[in-house]
Amino acid sequence: MTSPYSPGTRVWLDDSEQGWVPAEVSSCTKAAADTFTLVVKDENGRETTHTGAGSSLPHLRNPPLLESADDLATLSHLNEPSILHAVQTRYASRKIYTYSGIVLLSVNPFEPVPMYTPDIVQRYRERTKGELEPHLFAIAEDAYAAMTFDGKGQTIIVSGESGSGKTEAAKLVIRFIASPKTAQMNSDKNSFVEGASQVEQQIQATNPILEAFGNAKTTRNDNSSRFGKYIQASIALRSLLWPRLTRVLQLLFDTNRLIVGGRVRTYLLERSRLSYQAKTERNYHIFYQLCAGLPSERLEELGLDTDYSKFHYLNQGGPSTSELSDRDKFLAMRDALGVVGIDAAQQTSIFQLLAALLHLGNVSVTQTRTDAIIEDDDASMLRAIEFLGVDAAEFKRWTIKKQITTRSDKIATALTASQAVGVRDSIARFVYACLFEWLVSAINESLAGRYGDAASRAETYVGVLDIYGFEHFDKASAFPMQAFQLCLLDRLSTLSQFNTYVFKLAQEDYVKEKIQWTFIDFDDNQPTIDLIEGKLGILALLDEESRLPLGSDASLLQKLNAQLDKPANKAVYKMPKFANAAFTVAHYALDVTYQVDGFLEKNRDTVPEEQLNLLTSSSNAFLREVFDVALHRGSAEAADPPSPGGAVSKIPDPGRTSLVGFTGRTASVKKPTLGSIFKGSLGTLMDMLRMTNVHYIRCLKPNQHKTAWEFNSLQVLAQLRAAGVIETIRISTAGYPSRWTFEDFSRRRYYPLINWREGPTLLKREQFKRICVLVLQKTSINKSQFEMGETKIFLRNGVLGTLESARTAKL
Ligand code: ADP
Ligand code: MG
Repeated sequence: MTSPYSPGTRVWLDDSEQGWVPAEVSSCTKAAADTFTLVVKDENGRETTHTGAGSSLPHLRNPPLLESADDLATLSHLNEPSILHAVQTRYASRKIYTYSGIVLLSVNPFEPVPMYTPDIVQRYRERTKGELEPHLFAIAEDAYAAMTFDGKGQTIIVSGESGSGKTEAAKLVIRFIASPKTAQMNSDKNSFVEGASQVEQQIQATNPILEAFGNAKTTRNDNSSRFGKYIQASIALRSLLWPRLTRVLQLLFDTNRLIVGGRVRTYLLERSRLSYQAKTERNYHIFYQLCAGLPSERLEELGLDTDYSKFHYLNQGGPSTSELSDRDKFLAMRDALGVVGIDAAQQTSIFQLLAALLHLGNVSVTQTRTDAIIEDDDASMLRAIEFLGVDAAEFKRWTIKKQITTRSDKIATALTASQAVGVRDSIARFVYACLFEWLVSAINESLAGRYGDAASRAETYVGVLDIYGFEHFDKASAFPMQAFQLCLLDRLSTLSQFNTYVFKLAQEDYVKEKIQWTFIDFDDNQPTIDLIEGKLGILALLDEESRLPLGSDASLLQKLNAQLDKPANKAVYKMPKFANAAFTVAHYALDVTYQVDGFLEKNRDTVPEEQLNLLTSSSNAFLREVFDVALHRGSAEAADPPSPGGAVSKIPDPGRTSLVGFTGRTASVKKPTLGSIFKGSLGTLMDMLRMTNVHYIRCLKPNQHKTAWEFNSLQVLAQLRAAGVIETIRISTAGYPSRWTFEDFSRRRYYPLINWREGPTLLKREQFKRICVLVLQKTSINKSQFEMGETKIFLRNGVLGTLESARTAKL
């Protein structure tokens, strides 16, 4: 075997601070069969000797020309240092986007960049991915093109750590998709686009609203999303019904960019933040916006103040970043409410409800020797119950007492002060969660499309999934929020590595089509998924324990250990070494230790029945409507527009948030626990993702201090590893990401690339394959770049781009 090394070969050397440093081989000698001894000189002239075989020797460095390639999949030496280096050099020259096979990597610039202006939007329109610099607009356009082609729904999954730029990316994608073809696009992020249609404006208006109510300042991100979001733009494709006309129509008019509606789904809003914030964090933006933005007479009516520090729910965290921006955001948010049809009266009611929650948090509970006490004239309580529209005595009673039903009787027993505070806070969290549901529902009502001449249209969509990355794990929000995030990441990493859904299927397809193929193995994290979601997995056991009247955290832990601490789970489940009330799960990205303390209570997270009855029969009509929507219509899909006929018109529903926990159709069933809600929404989300074509944007956070243009190699490396970036590239370069039937490829798409004279004049089934070959010859696609199967043609990553450019040039 010859050595890939010779004097002058460029290599990478391990470095504890930077990950790797560049070096050059000065000599190479054969030590044994496949073993070589290298003398390597680094940039400072220091020489080191390395003996070994294959990958134990220093990694090869790419030729300078390739080192900052647009697409990492084109690197000739595909190794960690080369990938890190490429991303880093590009970032240093202000290029924040890099393709990595089918994934777009995006490194947060932490400062506004002039990359999203209207002319850039137009530039990326109708261009294929390889034609221009990497950009998230190219991914959006790619999804768009794929959708126009076969009418299949598309999902762009945006993932990454907290603060890495997911939400910004998701917003930009939606802005690209929902912006009018030619009219001016306003470069100001949150303002509405001139010339945009009403639906387009409404889709964009969802951002300031959901951010005000669902985002908060955390240690990692001043504007951290505390819920998961899937937003989709529904698009009518008139020409789809006549596929053969598609091409002609595309040339004649732009019939394709007709947005007819949209829909937002949210997942598991973090509820605990409402009543508790860590020292350096804040509650949801909306509360500060309200205090900073309302005119003083309104503030007075609501008992609010620009100085919000007198509210317990707002003063546990750090000071506001800037009141000025809170006020501006408030005004933008209120405009946005108007755009989605939430009128002034409803806005007033929303603000009143928010004020009620702040007062509720100030209700003071004291303790006698045995009982909790709330004074009858507690000013905060009086304000709160006035706004909530409930009876003071009843409200007070069921805050400081709890009802126990025995076989023959109902007995009210006293709570301790801390239990009573718990009840008070659970009410606030519950009302807020319902209000959030109501908002989402109201937004969706306004986005539900107008299906005018439905018969002549088929409808499909492009959706963006913005999942929130994990934050530091404090107890308050630890479970099941964190488990949800991590499970989703587990599932998505499975997905992004094409594990089950794409890649395994792809490999089967190769065999079916009789293509030369050696199966590729890769990490499979199905064991972790089973551990958590399986029949006797953590969630199932947790739910079982939560339903037992005498269930406790300790007995839960016992059950978990008894059930899960088995040799088969050795790699994924661990009992702590010390007698800790905890267990460790090996997630895809990292091992996480869950403290069981408080698990059951969090999982039940319920408002007492009596309070629930009181609230749902409130004299506040708006509050009743909020509950009605959140509790009953929530998952019942009542707002679903009738979908027009046609094979592609079915829009799957990945389940409503249901963070409130009831479903309309099953109202009589037991209230689901957070764990089961989470399992349900995860399942439906995955089902929906499987039905769509998936595109990926992976956001990277270059440093922890949110400093512009600072790149910490080790931190980025950790993220690249956690995301399985290298694995993904390896698979995308090894496999054939695009596959087409001969007919689709030849007749439907690339026929224009050959001369009429060369091609058969009549397109017969037997000739499709021949045309495919002709097309590839014509475009000089190398033999190694494709495979012909029995009925399908398989293309390597990047080939489609070349073909598309040729096609565009020809048309
Ligand atoms: P995540 O949703 O991943 O937690 P965000 O999308 O909220 O992160 O981004 C965090 C911050 O980073 C934003 O508030 C913004 O200041 C900055 N940022 C993110 N993406 C960009 C971008 N493309 N251009 C400029 N700044 C950005
Ligand atoms: Mg976010």
